[in-house]
Amino acid sequence: MEKILDAILAGERAALGSLPVPESYRGVTLHADEVSMFDGLPAREKDPRRSLHLDEVPTPRPGPGEVLVAVMASGVNHNTVWSSIFEPLPTFGFLSRYGRTSPLAARHDLPYHVLGSDLAGVVLRAGEGVVSWRPGDEVVAHCLSVELNHPDGHADTMLDPEQRIWGFETNFGGLAELALVKANQLMPKPGHLTWEEAAASGLVHSTAYRQLVSANGAAMKQGDVVLIWGASGGLGSYATQLALHGGAIPVCVVSSPEKAETCRRMGAELVIDRAAEGYRFWKDERTQDPREWRRFGARIRDLTGGEDPDIVFEHPGRETFGASVYVARRGGTVVTCAATSGYEHVYDNRYLWMHLKRIVGTHFANYREAWEANRLIAKGRIHPTLSGVRPLAETGQAVHDVHHNRHQGKVGVLCLAPREGLGVRDAELRARHEVAINRFRTGPGGGPGGAGR
Ligand code: NAP
Repeated sequence: MEKILDAILAGERAALGSLPVPESYRGVTLHADEVSMFDGLPAREKDPRRSLHLDEVPTPRPGPGEVLVAVMASGVNHNTVWSSIFEPLPTFGFLSRYGRTSPLAARHDLPYHVLGSDLAGVVLRAGEGVVSWRPGDEVVAHCLSVELNHPDGHADTMLDPEQRIWGFETNFGGLAELALVKANQLMPKPGHLTWEEAAASGLVHSTAYRQLVSANGAAMKQGDVVLIWGASGGLGSYATQLALHGGAIPVCVVSSPEKAETCRRMGAELVIDRAAEGYRFWKDERTQDPREWRRFGARIRDLTGGEDPDIVFEHPGRETFGASVYVARRGGTVVTCAATSGYEHVYDNRYLWMHLKRIVGTHFANYREAWEANRLIAKGRIHPTLSGVRPLAETGQAVHDVHHNRHQGKVGVLCLAPREGLGVRDAELRARHEVAINRFRTGPGGGPGGAGR
């Protein structure tokens, strides 16, 4: 592994194809024999620092259409939180179901699961039939893994019946020194970013792009009022930027003055601190309080000069969904990709049908959408929202922090990269956007990224 890293750091990328691939590598894993370790505990008390391990595991050989990547940096996503607390289901069921589909997929069904759905790194080996990528290419990966053997997947690959999220529903993920991906997950690494910055955007930015911008999602247009829950979080920090960049008017909802300030630093003017204003949409576990929906709706109108949201960017789920349906404007869209606070949503359907609103379900992004999202990053139009970085050995702590909502934007993880600030190739583009790239840097390991190799 040392020789591979030396070659990358020395800029000798052409040499990578001839260096031997190590037989094993370090990766962040879950163990199949520990899936019951948190039984009986409430979700908040399930501690990722106990379930996540850093193990030496055998290197998989890339099969047809696959690529082995030397991972310089990765990042924490909420799916790593779900995996690490074994909710709503242990991920080993996904691996064994996948394993039954083909001999190639059977390699994923192991008693350990290497997690991680983002990476920035360098191609080490390309399997048979891979024509777009070769050893030495600097890449980022999006997390859509598809088989495309069925006609359903060919208009929109998210509709492939064998669609999976890499590093969550498949093995050999990005929180590791090496990762195995399909060639059609790869995209060029944005040259002006460090490894850890480049690894921050793949999952959440592509998701937010499809959810908000794509015709497969809410098809946002100029002037739309967009209510964004968790606007300084993983998804929300990109949704806020996409709204501003696309000429829409974000109304950002957050839960602290610091997070409100972060939204303002991104350029948002309309911000609601849900904690300070004390909204309680549920009177008790079963009963919602429509007066609180109205109070929330009135606050949005105060900020917008009397307008209701054309689009509500939903992901908190049960706790907020009733309010989201209520506050959307007549003919408006509630677009949802998640249910962090609970997946059994309750809303008053009269507000939906009488006011001709739509609920649109959305999930990750197809290759084209992920590519378009990455292009916006590469051109310096949308910026990574990295607030802190930890070494691979501290991934458990990083996941714990995200589980407890102690982060903003994204938390990065250094895999092979020996320190932050490496990997910038386009210093001129970086210099133009340095301030915007660093506006989230407040967390552990924070500080401006440098411009080394
Ligand atoms: P994140 O970084 O943790 O941010 C989520 C934000 O939502 C939090 O920072 C919090 O912001 C807000 N929030 C959480 N609980 C809330 C509640 N009960 N009421 C109101 N706001 C609440 O997570 P993320 O990366 O944005 O992901 C959010 C969810 O989407 C997760 O469940 C994740 O698994 C899912 N997701 C799905 C897809 C997909 O493809 N389907 C892709 C990415 C993520 P404040 O405290 O500041 O309000």
